[in-house]
This record gives sequence, C-alpha cells and structure tokens, in this order.
Amino acid sequence: MHRNQEICYDTIIIGAGIAGCSAAFALQQRGQRVLLVDRSAVPASGGSGAAGAFVSPKIGKGSPLQALTNEAYSYAVAFYSRHFPKYFDQSGVARIPKDLNDSEKFAQYEEYNIDKYENIERGFFLQHGIKNAERGFWFEEAGVCDAPQMCRAIWERVMFRQYDVASLVHEEEGWKLISRASEHGGVAQPQLYAKNVVLATGYQNDLLDMRYMGVKGLWGSRGDYASDLHLKISLHKKISISKNINGIIKLGATHIKAKEPCVACDGRPLADLEVQAAEMVDTSDFKLKEIFCGMRAGSKDYFPLVGRVVDVPWILEHYPGILKGAKPPLKHLEGLYVMNGVGGRGFVFAPLMAKWLSELIVEEKAIDSRVSPDRLFLKWCRKL
Ligand SMILES: Cc1cc2nc3c(=O)[nH]c(=O)nc-3n(C[C@H](O)[C@H](O)[C@H](O)COP(=O)(O)OP(=O)(O)OC[C@H]3O[C@@H](n4cnc5c(N)ncnc54)[C@H](O)[C@@H]3O)c2cc1C
Repeated sequence: MHRNQEICYDTIIIGAGIAGCSAAFALQQRGQRVLLVDRSAVPASGGSGAAGAFVSPKIGKGSPLQALTNEAYSYAVAFYSRHFPKYFDQSGVARIPKDLNDSEKFAQYEEYNIDKYENIERGFFLQHGIKNAERGFWFEEAGVCDAPQMCRAIWERVMFRQYDVASLVHEEEGWKLISRASEHGGVAQPQLYAKNVVLATGYQNDLLDMRYMGVKGLWGSRGDYASDLHLKISLHKKISISKNINGIIKLGATHIKAKEPCVACDGRPLADLEVQAAEMVDTSDFKLKEIFCGMRAGSKDYFPLVGRVVDVPWILEHYPGILKGAKPPLKHLEGLYVMNGVGGRGFVFAPLMAKWLSELIVEEKAIDSRVSPDRLFLKWCRKL
C-alpha cells in the first residue's frame, strides 16, 4: 500500500473534548506519534465547552463509583496543577448539604471522604458571604477549570487536524479514516491512517456498533455572570457557584434528559439556577453574560468507558448462544479503543482515564475492569 508518511500515525484520536485532548496528550507523552481530529476547527466545541468544569471530590457512603471518582479526582488535581496551572483555579470548594435530610447524612459521609477535607460551620459561611448554610465539608485542593481554555492548552500541545469522520475501515496495517466531505463528494480531504484509533466522540458514539456501551446524552446549561461580589471560594449545594474569577461567577448546571441537543426551552434555561443561587449568595448585581449548553455523555452504570471495543458483528455471528447466556471469550477490534462515558465529571475523570488508556495502548497493561466497556457486553446481549 502506498501511503504518504505524513498522514500515518501510531494513534488517531477522534474528538477534541477533554477526553480526546487528554488521551492525545497522554499517548504523546508515552512517545507515540498522535493526531487529534475533530469535526470542528477548535477544541471543546461539544460538551466540554459547556462545562462549569468544577473539579471536586464525590461525597457519599463509599460506593465503588465514589472510590473511583475520588481516585480520578486526586489524579486530576495533581495533573492540572503540574501541567496546566494557568487554567486550573485551585481555591477550594465548599460542599453544602442540599437539605435537612442530606445534612444528617454528612456525618456518615465523613469516613469515606478524601483525606484532605475539613468540617466547616456557620462562621465559615458567614465569613464568605454564603447564606443558609449551617455545616459542610471544605475541600481545599478542589477547584475549577476554565473549560475551553484548558482543552485548548492541551490541544495546542498535540498535532491536530479538522476532520469530520464519516466511517472507519480496518485494513491490514491499521485503520483508515474516511471524512464526511469525501463521502459526499465535497472538498477532498486526505485519507488518514493509523495503527490505533481512539473514539472520544462524546454522546455521538455511533461510528461502529457500540450500542452495548449504552452511551446516552444528558443535556445541560450553565451561565457566566458578571458580578463584583467578593466570592473567594467555589461552592456546591444542589447547584454549583464558582469563585469570582476576573469579575465572572459561573452558575451550573441543569440536567435534562434529551436525545438531541437544544431541547425546547423558554429562552431562559438558567431561571431555576438563578433562583437557587439567590438562596446561597447575594446575586443582586449578577448580569448574565453568556449561556453555555451541551451534552454530557454517560454510560449505563455511570462509570467511564475506557478500553478496547468488542467486535459485535463477529461475536454475534460466531457465538449466537451468547444471546441465551453463553459466555465465550470476547473478541475485540484490533487497534480500536474508546474513551467515553465520563458523564457530568469529564474534567475529573479525563486525566486518569487517559493515563490508563495510554498504558493499555503502549504497554498493553490491562485496563482497570471498573472502566472496561467489556463489563456491559454480556448483559446487553441477553437483552437482545
Ligand atoms: C452544562 C454542563 C456542565 C458541566 N459541568 C461539569 C463540571 O462542573 N465538572 C466536570 O468535570 N464536568 C462537567 N460537565 C461534563 C463535561 O463537560 C463532560 O463530561 C465532558 O465534556 C465530556 O467530554 P468528551 O470529550 O467526552 O465529549 P465532548 O466534549 O462532547 O467531545 C466530543 C467531541 O467529539 C467530536 N466528534 C464527535 N463525532 C465526531 C466525528 N464523527 N468526527 C469528528 N469529530 C467528532 C465532537 O465535535 C466533540 O468535539 C458538564 C457538562 C455540561 C453540559
């Protein structure tokens, strides 16, 4: 096969949100020749551009998801502070109970908290101008990313090409990407080749048969508000309010089950958030500057999806008994990987998931079974 060396890569990552940018960066750090592509000319045009991008731990009673989230949180804090501190404002996040019932549970949550936290009381909140809060947890290492700038900073460190991928073809030496423009007879785009492909396409997870992963979108909106309020920390109750950074306070976010982006709203998607924010801080001078909307891509069990992709047509053809409960060894598509399902915590999960994925691709280190998409395959088959 005659190929232009310039367009041959070890790994091509499709999707320049926080998942794809982090994966490209991690693979490049392990010495791979990578190319990041996106249908948009800029990074973070999907869910990642809409994120409030709070990076804070999960509280609760020690569920496996909490344990994984907090492992990822600790890694993310170290990663952003080390590599991209300019776009990570690490001035702490206060976690406040949602209501009286939740407040009673905080005592039980304590033993499962990350190591670095403090109990805070009324005096702390009054000092920071926070209303209606009697107790909470203070996570001093938590913070908030500037979502588009963080993605851009990572994106600038790797090779990028605007490319709308219509389909993927597996050939002897690896994968060939076919652009939508070429498929529809538009402006010719070069064909791109790579030994490996990583699909980091967010809720549009449809380039191959990956229904078993059950990626679903959860639509959400958040806003930037201009304000002079001296809010020096970020806080999270039912909603999140960021520290005042350069005269901007972020309010986030709404959660709306929707299959398609831009579900109908009355033109004021942030109305509820504004009411809740007013119960937490003085919002009298808040002026809405910009609304951000986007889709979060989550998995069925809320754990990320990182690893190899099952060759669904091959398995169904060769092991039809799988539909009735047989458990044959799974066959994966060679050189094909996914990094998705980071849901409402993409900025928390992405750095650690990217590290694990790069270890799998470069060193063939087995992926952590908690995030391997294989976990969902047999269950999905039995429901067919
Ligand atoms: C309102 C809101 C608030 C949020 N707040 C937080 C928060 O506080 N903290 C936090 O950690 N997370 C938050 N999130 C979640 C976070 O934004 C997501 O988890 C994250 O954006 C997922 O990133 P991703 O890279 O998987 O997907 P995306 O950012 O959606 O990126 C997918 C990319 O793939 C590209 N693509 C898709 N198909 C193709 C194709 N065929 N060819 C080429 N390109 C393709 C798209 O153009 C897109 O750029 C929030 C999300 C929303 C919507």
